Amino acid sequence: MYKFPVFTPAFPKFSAGFYLALALAAFLAFSACNNTDDDNTCNPIALEDDPPGQWFLGDFHVHATGASNDTGGDSSPEAIQQRAIAMGLDFLVLTDHSNSTGSDATTTYEDPALFNQGPEFPYWDTCALLSVPGQLLMIDGNEISPVSENNSQPTGHIGCIPDDLATLDRSGAFTDRPKDAVTGGNALQQANERGCFTVINHPYAITPWIIYDWTSYDYDAIEIWNGTIGFDPWDIRGRDIWRCDLLAGRNTVAVGGSDNHRIFTDAPGSGLDPALGYPTTAVFAANFTWGSIMEGLKAGKTAVFEGSSRLFIDGYNEKGCRNETADMRIVRLRGSVDSHLDSTRVVLTRATACTDPRPDHLAIPQVQEDTLLQQTVYGGQNFDFRVTVAGQKGVYSALLQPNTQAHYAALTRAIVID
Ligand SMILES: [Zn+2]
Ligand SMILES: [Zn+2]
Repeated sequence: MYKFPVFTPAFPKFSAGFYLALALAAFLAFSACNNTDDDNTCNPIALEDDPPGQWFLGDFHVHATGASNDTGGDSSPEAIQQRAIAMGLDFLVLTDHSNSTGSDATTTYEDPALFNQGPEFPYWDTCALLSVPGQLLMIDGNEISPVSENNSQPTGHIGCIPDDLATLDRSGAFTDRPKDAVTGGNALQQANERGCFTVINHPYAITPWIIYDWTSYDYDAIEIWNGTIGFDPWDIRGRDIWRCDLLAGRNTVAVGGSDNHRIFTDAPGSGLDPALGYPTTAVFAANFTWGSIMEGLKAGKTAVFEGSSRLFIDGYNEKGCRNETADMRIVRLRGSVDSHLDSTRVVLTRATACTDPRPDHLAIPQVQEDTLLQQTVYGGQNFDFRVTVAGQKGVYSALLQPNTQAHYAALTRAIVID
């Protein structure tokens, strides 16, 4: 779990004027606050308290030996549990490849006689046993992994995050073979029919046949950061296509996933071999239960980061009441900078338009955005920035973008004003 450190509020860029505006807002707000019970908790200096709950830290994309054919044999569920507890994760979802043939640790050979035989969710009961009340929730999900190597048309990998553990349909196998036969949209439909919360994993990637083919938009989330060398150029495209969704009026949630295949990889990992929890996805939830975490996830209350970097976004009206409508006048950015970084920047933008190339999977999405804050921060620093805004339409989101390396970045959820 993550609780905010006690910050000294900082007012970059806006020192004098912003203070004056705040003082005026405070005067007006206190006058107004006395008139209605609703506003009694608001204060334009301290800002309204956070709602009840906490940020729970997790990993939505982890592979285990025994059900994924590319783990090298080390990643037992028990080893994953130990590693997760040691690094302080609150939850993780095993997302082994759907059981195409050859899904074992030692071979990638595929025997057509074994196509689409399953079983799926092989660690369902093991995960329940390895969960530690009050410390770690382990859930068995899936990554439906059709392959399209022969005709070089992409298909996509679909993350299945079990939503309601009591009603998820775990019967039978996913259909993911033969090669070239299953589209990404078909894999997505299978996941939706089971009751999965669905994630388009690594929508852009260096390996062409795992890029999503955009044959369906009926997903819940996009993996805006897939663990590799850090927050890399393919992740930037994934984050941009998520913002394109939001600009188009879709309710798409942003998640990250390490895609860890080798549990003993040391943080932050190297090359295409990411460490567990790199990146971590935090979900704001009222309680430490899977139902509560899913509720926060479906509401889009997420943040994605590596190491001890953090970045969270909140909106308030001029009275300091929490508000993410056209009345939003203050955007607050709280966070911290991992000490591995020297200096880096916190950037807040308002996206206003998208040139969306889909279903072309190779063309790069282009997002038009205004920069509302660009502030240098330093390794080990905690910060609490407030930025005045006019509540204009757009998608507000922020990132902590290292200057010289892609690791230890941090990304916020989005505030959408339409
Ligand atoms: Zn994948
Ligand atoms: Zn994966």
